[in-house]
Amino acid sequence: MIAKLPKSDIQANCLIAGKWVRGEESLTPIHSPYNNQKIGEATEPSRAQIEAALQAASAAQKEWAKLPIKERSKILFQFRNILIRDLDEISHLKASESGKTFEEGKAGLLKGIEVLEFALSIQNLDINGKLEVSRGVTCEYRREPLGVVLNVTPFNFPAMVPMWTIPIAIALGNSYVWKPSEKTPLTSSRIASALMEAGLPAGILTVLPGGSKTVEHLIDHPIIQAIGFVGSTKVARIVYERGTKLGKRVLALGGAKNHIILLPDANPELSGIGISDSFTGCAGQRCMAASVLLAVGNVDVHIEKIIARASSLTLGDDMGAIISKAQVEFLKSSIDQAEKDGAKVILDGRKTAPPAGMSAGNWIGPTILDHVKPGSNAHTTELFGPVLSIIRVKDLSEAIAIQSTSAYGNACSVFTSSGAMADRVTREARAGMVGVNVGVPVPREPFSFGGVRASKFGHGDITGMHSLDFWSDVKKITTKWEMQTDSNWMS
Ligand code: NAD
Repeated sequence: MIAKLPKSDIQANCLIAGKWVRGEESLTPIHSPYNNQKIGEATEPSRAQIEAALQAASAAQKEWAKLPIKERSKILFQFRNILIRDLDEISHLKASESGKTFEEGKAGLLKGIEVLEFALSIQNLDINGKLEVSRGVTCEYRREPLGVVLNVTPFNFPAMVPMWTIPIAIALGNSYVWKPSEKTPLTSSRIASALMEAGLPAGILTVLPGGSKTVEHLIDHPIIQAIGFVGSTKVARIVYERGTKLGKRVLALGGAKNHIILLPDANPELSGIGISDSFTGCAGQRCMAASVLLAVGNVDVHIEKIIARASSLTLGDDMGAIISKAQVEFLKSSIDQAEKDGAKVILDGRKTAPPAGMSAGNWIGPTILDHVKPGSNAHTTELFGPVLSIIRVKDLSEAIAIQSTSAYGNACSVFTSSGAMADRVTREARAGMVGVNVGVPVPREPFSFGGVRASKFGHGDITGMHSLDFWSDVKKITTKWEMQTDSNWMS
């Protein structure tokens, strides 16, 4: 369903030292992808404001780090209560500015809350370790925060992706600087307000809307100790290289081109729904969306089911809008190009009617391209829209050969009723997240999220236990209190 647009303009200002202030650098209007109506505006901070924000963040972090994790977690628990209380309101806002359906907006926020619940369990799971390693001598692990950390987020999940890192980094004792997408800054203000209402001390969360200039200035600033990034591969690489050149810790998640392998023994109903929902969900604007279907042998019955499911969707009710007019044009021209490259358009969304009253918005219907050639643009380029490219292959070996040489490596799924075939794909697919009869194999907490190859620069994953080592340092302490004289350094 189409979300309710805000009744009046929402302001996305800067959260600096616990206060909302207008950014002095620039003002950007924000329009809803549904109908391009203005729904708010965002202000970008000046250099002086960024400096003031980082100084305040650094001072506040020193006090925050002194609190036991149980105390810090109490505030996060209250944050969870507020998000649940305001779930519908926040979901309407984030859907309005990102173009998702209301249900997708809500699902993303709930997934973010699941990460928050994981962060609340760090206090009980991550109890470190202490051992008497030799007579009278103990060794101990102690996890310590890094200081002030930066996270840069994309437009397509304005709440869920930031929630992958905000609760974990803050629970561990860091101060968190958030540079939300310039396309969806309104949700970030709402999420930050909820965290402030929960009782977060001033300076522990800083929000600085803006574009690449703000990101560059933040990466280069000596107060910033670590950088998390989620967005396109092009920018992930830029951020990773800029940060690591300065010796900073960077985890930068990039784009994707996810392959699904469809075998003739797959359940046609299950695969029809799973594959269709994967490429049409969030209008294909998600890094876990199915993008390439490797159709093994004769799977025409299955493909008919995918077409039937995708063509039954109504724009607005079941599938949301695209982030910008330029992106709609890019998708249409990519479909035109695929036809020129020899693909057959078996479901054409280029002329699908927008929802009533929304013709000024950014809409395109589900599109399926058959007989796409391996290596062509429709196979290799991340389109980021509801477009599925089918490549016909003779057997599973050919399918795996194509998947495993893709530049990206976020997700891969297989649809089959054979355990042996599925097992082979889970072993040989080159992807960080693999699904068996699951169209969108996003691991649920406490399993962590992250791809490989051009879908991720840096080590570890962005959520789950693997993320703790990214947002903290582990200090090793060796202690001896018994002062024996007959001992050497090992005793
Ligand atoms: P984007 O790369 O354009 O922008 C992401 C962030 O980077 C934004 O905050 C933006 O302001 C900032 N940015 C843009 N150009 C920059 C530059 N030159 N220097 C520094 N910062 C810059 O991505 P987007 O269009 O917002 O999001 C869509 C992309 O994100 C897709 O490629 C999608 O696959 C990817 N994504 C990946 C994951 C994942 O987990 N791997 C999750 C969500 C989205």
